[in-house]
Amino acid sequence: MYEWSEEHQAIADVVRRFVDEEIRPHLDDLEFGDLPPYGILRKMYETFGLKDMAKENFQRQLDRKKNDEAPAPSRGGSNAGATLIPTIELSKVSLGLVTSLGVSTGLAAGTIMKLGTPAQMERWGLDLLTLDKVGAWALTEPDSGSDALGGMRTTAKRDGDEYIINGSKTWITNGPYADTIVLYCKLDDGSGDDIRNRKVLTFILDAGMPGLEQSKPMRKMGQHGSPTGQVFMTDVRVGKDRLLGETEEPRGGGRESAKDNFVAERAGVAAMSLGVIEECLRLSVDYAKSRMLWGKPIADYQLIQLKLANMEVARVNVQNLVFRHIERSAAGAIPTLAEASAMKLYSAQAACQVADEAIQLFGGNGYVSEYRVETLLRDARVLRIYAGTDEMQVVAIAKDLVRR
Ligand SMILES: Cc1cc2nc3c(=O)[nH]c(=O)nc-3n(C[C@H](O)[C@H](O)[C@H](O)COP(=O)(O)OP(=O)(O)OC[C@H]3O[C@@H](n4cnc5c(N)ncnc54)[C@H](O)[C@@H]3O)c2cc1C
Repeated sequence: MYEWSEEHQAIADVVRRFVDEEIRPHLDDLEFGDLPPYGILRKMYETFGLKDMAKENFQRQLDRKKNDEAPAPSRGGSNAGATLIPTIELSKVSLGLVTSLGVSTGLAAGTIMKLGTPAQMERWGLDLLTLDKVGAWALTEPDSGSDALGGMRTTAKRDGDEYIINGSKTWITNGPYADTIVLYCKLDDGSGDDIRNRKVLTFILDAGMPGLEQSKPMRKMGQHGSPTGQVFMTDVRVGKDRLLGETEEPRGGGRESAKDNFVAERAGVAAMSLGVIEECLRLSVDYAKSRMLWGKPIADYQLIQLKLANMEVARVNVQNLVFRHIERSAAGAIPTLAEASAMKLYSAQAACQVADEAIQLFGGNGYVSEYRVETLLRDARVLRIYAGTDEMQVVAIAKDLVRR
């Protein structure tokens, strides 16, 4: 694949129209007014019939599970292009919308659909996939971060047929508004084993359960369209019906479930980065042609041309990574963690460099919100932190290289 197909371009056109009509008018409210993103996302689902598609997708996945077939790849398969285009287009205006949507339908619903029993899929998965409910995916803790699985301190202690959960999670996307929380924790079986090595279990919690507290949205640098918060568990009592897969030995294990999501997330970040880069380039070319200094448009100056050329090089490179991902997904190839990490590391850094150079090209106007490039940089900056920091991507790539 070296170009978007006509069908892909048609999808991009309708998404752009939706963005212009339904999102741009609300950008200030998302950015400065604490408007939660869910109303806009639900409108998008209605407009494009995504709710019905989600129901069909749900039924297919449920049938596969009931027939004991392997789940279809997330964000992949022959539909990877059609799935990534809305991500790219939405990322041009609000990376926060993409983050909130991706966490709710991709990480939270995706984990339940992959590891849940048919009853759990029906009880929690469907409403998340249709966006009738909002989901959060809670792995990170204040004292673990990059060492998320080893350093995890939230525990589930066996108590008869039930478990009692204690601990806290932080920087949880949709945490403040989530109806359903997919929660990772360590099994406390009373054996006194080193907590680093204990089994990782995954539970599904509902907002309002006794002992579960969801914080208000945190103030942060960017992605204001995506509420982020803390989740606190104090003696939250849960039955086995909330333990994902209703087993302490899920297929592949709880640690593997978290790692599977790392691959899907990292590929998604490349598409988000492409959106940021394309938008910065479009805005920068327009501005360079219209800003007159010393009687000439700044586009005539070679130092400005260098910035534009570097942005184009980044756009081509990141687009090629996305194309490669689409092509390989269509062929049924799932990227390794190292490949997904390489894609994420390069794309996220490229998006931040391009957005930073766009601000420079705009001069003082780049520093004020009206011209949008400062928002793009603030939004993009977290692409180098969440879904694994740059440094953790380097570790994943290097480990794979020296293991060969
Ligand atoms: C807006 C936002 C949304 C998020 N959403 C979610 C979510 O929905 N669910 C969720 O579970 N988490 C979420 N996170 C958490 C995110 O995944 C973590 O912030 C990230 O994994 C890094 O952890 P940390 O912030 O604790 O940094 P730390 O792990 O404390 O890292 C600090 C620094 O040390 C570096 N470092 C760490 N270990 C090493 C090493 N071995 N070698 C070299 N350098 C190292 C890091 O790269 C970083 O530069 C979100 C974070 C943000 C900011």
